[in-house]
Amino acid sequence: MSMKAPRGERLVIALIGRRNVGKSSLINALTGQAIAIVDEQPGTTTDPVAKHFELLPVGPVTFYDTAGIDDVGVVGKKRVAASLKVLWRSDMALLVTDEAGLTHDEKAAIAQLKKMEIPFLILFNKSDKSAPPEKSLSFCREEGYPFVLLSTATGSGVRETRDRIIALVPESFKEERPIIGDILNPGETVLLVTPIDPGAPRGRLILPQVQVLRDVLDRDALAYTVKESDITRALDSLKSPPALVITDSQVVELVNRLVPEPVPLTTFSTAFARYKGELAPLVEGARTIDLLEDGDRVLVAEACSHHAQSDDIGRVKIPRWIKEYTGKRIETVIAAGHDFPESLEEYALVIHCGACMLTGMDMKRRIRECQSRGVPVTNYGVAISKFHGVLDRIVRPFGL
Ligand code: SF4
Repeated sequence: MSMKAPRGERLVIALIGRRNVGKSSLINALTGQAIAIVDEQPGTTTDPVAKHFELLPVGPVTFYDTAGIDDVGVVGKKRVAASLKVLWRSDMALLVTDEAGLTHDEKAAIAQLKKMEIPFLILFNKSDKSAPPEKSLSFCREEGYPFVLLSTATGSGVRETRDRIIALVPESFKEERPIIGDILNPGETVLLVTPIDPGAPRGRLILPQVQVLRDVLDRDALAYTVKESDITRALDSLKSPPALVITDSQVVELVNRLVPEPVPLTTFSTAFARYKGELAPLVEGARTIDLLEDGDRVLVAEACSHHAQSDDIGRVKIPRWIKEYTGKRIETVIAAGHDFPESLEEYALVIHCGACMLTGMDMKRRIRECQSRGVPVTNYGVAISKFHGVLDRIVRPFGL
């Protein structure tokens, strides 16, 4: 069976279950490597730990080895909450239990997985010691939940578990989606505008730019990469206008002025928001910037903590642009890391970072979390186009 992961995407699988049911040994058994720490003492795994593997034929996989969902005490409850939060960034979950069968905690976890529409597989580990209770097995059969009887100690059921995981991989993950290739024809020219400023990494282009270049080449189209100071020269040198101009969001205002209106224009972050599957809600979210009022709070959410620069986009530029664009007294709050603040509902809008470290599924779930909590969400690139009055133009190439 051949399965190709979208470029740069990892399948994220969360392992959840009670303490000492063998979650860590399961990772070892599945990957054939003794990397997860295995300890007979309950509760060795405290916080969710990411472990990266190649799981053939799926490709790159990250397992989140989580603390036990039956952990007790104040700290234990915090660990349980952290374990369940991992689900927001998981494409699939393995619910590991043992010969004791499905307890109240596990049934609650199953309910949560169903609510979040996360595909899951129930694994009855230690089945070499004794068969799981018939009550648990018939519960799974009646509800139509897939399960495997497993023993990480003897290796029985490990192959079936791998096969079931492969069968559960979401279709959206298997699709090889183009970034912009589908709106280009072979032979057309794309102009890519990439500022080389002090914020740019030394000696290389950033990954999204490289991925777009590759996508253009896959489409047998031509890519012309220039700095923003060379746009006019580049346009003049072409025999016919480019089929598309893609620019870094930070210079979109300038590029919008320099590139004549009939030429389709978009930004890297807009193209990637679509590639990651959710451009429409982000555009809708950006349009609510017009509705912000005095006293509203806006959450600037960054998916990882990176070194903030003096003119940092999330901390300095976005708060400034919000103020300038709306003319209102808006409080901006920054949150970095994997999880949104508990009190998400307090915010009138979430402006999310470009999510370069997140998978498409990850970002979709974060958008869905905002939607289910009634909070509009957009991202940096789309919001910047809104602040600069070019939103309609930059989404037009994608039919929005
Ligand atoms: S855009 Fe990428 S590097 Fe920046 S905060 Fe988001 S995930 Fe981290």
